[in-house]
Amino acid sequence: MEELRSRMIEIQQRIDRAARISGRSGQDVTLIAVSKTVDVDRAQAAFNLGIRDFGENRTQELNRKLQAIPQANWHMIGRLQTNKVKEVVGKAALIHSMDSWHLAREINKRAQYLQIEMPVLLQVNISGEEQKTGVEPGEVRAFLDSVGELQALRVYGFMTMAPLSYEGEESRPIFAELANLKAQLEGKSFKQVDLKYLSMGMSQDYEVAVEEGANMVRIGSAIFT
Ligand SMILES: *Cc1c(COP(=O)(O)O)cnc(C)c1O
Repeated sequence: MEELRSRMIEIQQRIDRAARISGRSGQDVTLIAVSKTVDVDRAQAAFNLGIRDFGENRTQELNRKLQAIPQANWHMIGRLQTNKVKEVVGKAALIHSMDSWHLAREINKRAQYLQIEMPVLLQVNISGEEQKTGVEPGEVRAFLDSVGELQALRVYGFMTMAPLSYEGEESRPIFAELANLKAQLEGKSFKQVDLKYLSMGMSQDYEVAVEEGANMVRIGSAIFT
C-alpha cells in the first residue's frame, strides 16, 4: 500500500511537470490506471488512494472489476472484437480502441438498441506497424465526415500506441503527429464529434506524451509492478 502510494505520487508529479512544459496543469490530464495485470484488491487499493479511472483490455475482466468497483470509470483500451461489443457498450465509460468502420457500426448498433450515446475514441495507426490496429492517419478525416451516420456514437478524440519496444523520446514523433492531426481537425464541424481527448502514453513514455499534448495517459506497470 505504501509502495503503491509513493509510486502514484511520483507519477502524478511527473505528469504535473510534463503538463507545465506544455503550458497546462496536471489536472488537465486524466491518469488511467491500467489494472489488466492485477486483481480487484489492487485496483481497490488504487481507488482508495484516489484513482478514479481504470483501463482494461479484455471485456470479461472489465466487467468483473466494474461490478466490484462500480464507482470508478472503466475504460476499454484493448482490441475489441465485434462479437464482444455488447459486453462493453453501456458499461465502459469510454472505448479507446475503436479501430475500424466495421467496429464503429457494431458499437452504434448496440448503443441504439440500449438507447444510449456511446463515448468512443478513434484509434489511429500513427506508427504504421503492420500488427498495430487503427485507422490510417490519411483516412481519419473521411471517417469523421461519416460519423454522423452512426447516430449513437460520440467521438471524443483519438488514441494511439507507440511500438511496444519504444521508450521515452523514441515515441515523441508519433505523439506529436497525432496531436498535429487533432489540431488540424479540431476546427472542422463534424457531426457527433468533439475532439477533446488525446489518449497516448504508457509507462515507458507518458511524460513525453503529456509534453506533446496527451490529456489521457494509460499507465499499468509503473503503478502496479
Ligand atoms: C497494457 C496497456 C497499457 C499500459 O501499459 P504499461 O506499459 O503497463 O503502462 C496501455 N495501453 C494499452 C492499450 C495497453 O494494452
